[in-house]
Amino acid sequence: MSTAVAETSTTTGLREGAFGNARALACRECSHQVALGPHYACPECFGPLEVAYDFPAVTREEIAAGPRNIWRYKALLPVPTDIEQSPNTEPGFTRLLKADNLGRTLGIDNLWVKDDSTNPTNSFKDRVVACALSAARELGATVFACPSTGNLANAVAAAGARAGIKTVVFIPSNLEQPKQVNSAVYTENLVAVDGNYDDVNRLASEIAGEEEGWAFVNVNVRPFYAEGSKTLGFEIAEQLGWRLPDQIVIPVASGSQLTKVDKAFQELIELGLVEDKPYKVYGAQATGCSPVSVAFKDGVDAIRPVRPDTIAKSLAIGNPADGIYVLDICRRTGGAVEDITDDEVREGILLLARTEGIFTETAGGTTVGVLKKLVETGQLDPALETVVINTGMGLKTLDAVSGRVGPAATIAPSYDAFAATGI
Ligand SMILES: *Cc1c(COP(=O)(O)O)cnc(C)c1O
Ligand SMILES: [Zn+2]
Repeated sequence: MSTAVAETSTTTGLREGAFGNARALACRECSHQVALGPHYACPECFGPLEVAYDFPAVTREEIAAGPRNIWRYKALLPVPTDIEQSPNTEPGFTRLLKADNLGRTLGIDNLWVKDDSTNPTNSFKDRVVACALSAARELGATVFACPSTGNLANAVAAAGARAGIKTVVFIPSNLEQPKQVNSAVYTENLVAVDGNYDDVNRLASEIAGEEEGWAFVNVNVRPFYAEGSKTLGFEIAEQLGWRLPDQIVIPVASGSQLTKVDKAFQELIELGLVEDKPYKVYGAQATGCSPVSVAFKDGVDAIRPVRPDTIAKSLAIGNPADGIYVLDICRRTGGAVEDITDDEVREGILLLARTEGIFTETAGGTTVGVLKKLVETGQLDPALETVVINTGMGLKTLDAVSGRVGPAATIAPSYDAFAATGI
């Protein structure tokens, strides 16, 4: 871990209220607590650390009076109360769309799409990065960095540019061209690594240990980063009229997002902001990188790492840090983890585009395709209210479908030529 960042790791080195209502970092495994700082592993058992809070009373009205971005939930995040004053990309409060056409096609009565493709850099990663940026600032970091499967690098590079902090982003060198360009426009320091995401991630941890003052959003400030995903859960509940859905389908890469949406629902119940009720959480993976789905189906608790081979590159994490917690949540709530082939991912992209006018990337194709499979296999109840999360934007993964769609005809500019097409 970076020593310069670590210097301010005691609560005394921080300004008052630097992390809002957050109280400490608590180990998910053994509950051991450490002071708020750039820590991510429990010193006792190496389990992952998670932000713990002393929540004040929070009302629906206070939240509704806040800005139309994730900071409306700042009382429930590890950020200072003046967070809106610091330059950031102001992500969140994306559309929750009633998806009647898709629902009819799949035989689901009451279906919603939470469309996170409209965030500032077109994926849900802007949420987590905004929280990580706040932590990096409060800890006095001088470099804002990440290992990424693509979208995270886009979000880090853009947020860093806006905040005026140096950014360095690391990606696998075989990443889709649009995702490379979408980072490189914001930063001069895009580093392509010959290896898969898990190699890139290992390298990032090594650099975090060697360099001073680096905040790696999903490594040494991961507990703060991860909290940003809760805002997806908060928004879904608020946009449903302060209710929880019966079922929710979420893509799984590291598994962080899925575990934090569940944490968000639990916190809303705890705070009395929604009524306590059962809900089922489902995880979606591509078969070419499905370590969590495999463990779910095998009925085992341990995740066996895999070497990813799928077009769903934003989900291609072969050794998912939060995989075991995804398993626990999906089993405990009565949900499931399922996976589909790359062809089904492409079909999922086209299905969402042609039923709802939403162009998703391969991660969303995976989620929609898994939703379809869950209904077909009887694992998801089509009579219950269901939310599916679209986490990214199709323009970043054009290659996935460019061979499948195109002009229906190429014609001479005459009426006769058009009429002959039969369109
Ligand atoms: C990163 C990412 C995910 C999954 O995130 P985890 O929290 O690591 O599981 C899903 N969809 C898209 C588009 C992503 O970029
Ligand atoms: Zn521990």
